Amino acid sequence: MSKKLLLKDAHIEGIRYFETYRKQGGYTAAEKALKMTPEEILEEVKTSGLRGRGGAGFPTGMKWSFLAKPEGVPRHLVVNADESEPGTFKDRYLMEFLPHLLIEGMLISSYTLGSNVSYIYIRGEYSWIPDILEEAIEEAKAAGFLGKNILGTGFDCEIYVQRGGGAYICGEETALLESLEGKRGNPRLKPPFPAVKGLWERPTVVNNVESIAAIVPIIDITGAEYAKIGVGRSTGTKLISACGNINKPGVYEIDMTITVEEFIYSDEYCGGIANGKKLKACIPGGSSVPIVPANLLLKTVNGEPRYMNYESLADGGFATGTMMGSGGFIVLDEDQCIVEHTMTLARFYHHESCGQCTPCREGTGWMHKILKKIEKGEGKMEDIDLLWDIQRKIEGNTICPLGDAAAWPVAAAIRHFRDEFEWHVKNPELSQTQNYGLANY
Ligand code: SF4
Repeated sequence: MSKKLLLKDAHIEGIRYFETYRKQGGYTAAEKALKMTPEEILEEVKTSGLRGRGGAGFPTGMKWSFLAKPEGVPRHLVVNADESEPGTFKDRYLMEFLPHLLIEGMLISSYTLGSNVSYIYIRGEYSWIPDILEEAIEEAKAAGFLGKNILGTGFDCEIYVQRGGGAYICGEETALLESLEGKRGNPRLKPPFPAVKGLWERPTVVNNVESIAAIVPIIDITGAEYAKIGVGRSTGTKLISACGNINKPGVYEIDMTITVEEFIYSDEYCGGIANGKKLKACIPGGSSVPIVPANLLLKTVNGEPRYMNYESLADGGFATGTMMGSGGFIVLDEDQCIVEHTMTLARFYHHESCGQCTPCREGTGWMHKILKKIEKGEGKMEDIDLLWDIQRKIEGNTICPLGDAAAWPVAAAIRHFRDEFEWHVKNPELSQTQNYGLANY
């Protein structure tokens, strides 16, 4: 059984409220941290090996150490709660059921970074959660854990919740900052990076909800103990939101030493494939990461088991080329049509493109059109190659990672499931009434 650090108290009734959270030992990590220097906390976070839980997996301690500290210029912590990646809903769970874990993590992080005004930028569709967070903020303030002169340390900290407008692109950190400033959420060219010029051109750290929540157990048990959990550079625990054709969709906390097979088939986690079907493929880290067929998902090319961690899932090169990403684990059974699935994703990325760069603005729409044609049985063999060319021209040629996120699913689908694309071309009539999965398994 995986060790629980973030969700250990999630089952306790009333844990959403300060009184219950406090009774369970809540805010003791904050009390401990506020007796330490910011430099000491930063060292703990670096030692923990915590990697950003939003998708990129960049070491959090290193990110914090890049924060510029010009004299007299305010600094900010911004929590990225714009969780819009299809298949990803673990931050929603944290904010809805454990809001004080996030607030406590923000207090410790704000103190470390020197942010007296910090923000939570939350996805617009999570319409009921800002009230939960604002209530928790008020409770923390009333108890002296936010506001002026927190616990008599002289440190002041306010937290504000800002609702997004429902744009996926605002999950990209610079688009988020633009939106937080009241502008259209267009990604910025980098450099300058937010650590130097972020919110209102002030040094800013943007971190994911889960990353900030993880600061609490790191201070609680120490960075060194946190680093002992997990394996290699995949330290600590990771939240995974599992969905698709499985028996037990939900949010799970894993310690990154379990195998993918165990995660999918064990009753502790996904409980196997729904309706006794066979596993066909999986997208292990949210819709932007490449799809992996079952044979490569359960074993590496060397026949070793594949593990639920950053290194094993990526496994370099073309073996999977996938990633742990945001931990949005989407499972597809044998009945699913990869072409239809890829078309749905292409439509999503086209709709969410901000339109600033030509390869993304035009390429995403073009890919969607071609995929639609193939899926309806109106495609030609050359269309598959054209699709391949388009995604190649998008990848790496755009301002922000949305371009790559749109290209990778198409590339992986063609690389691993070209036979399905060809089936649609060769069977125009059948593909109008059936999908590849149902017709071939
Ligand atoms: Fe906008 Fe797409 Fe360019 Fe990102 S890659 S800036 S979403 S057009």
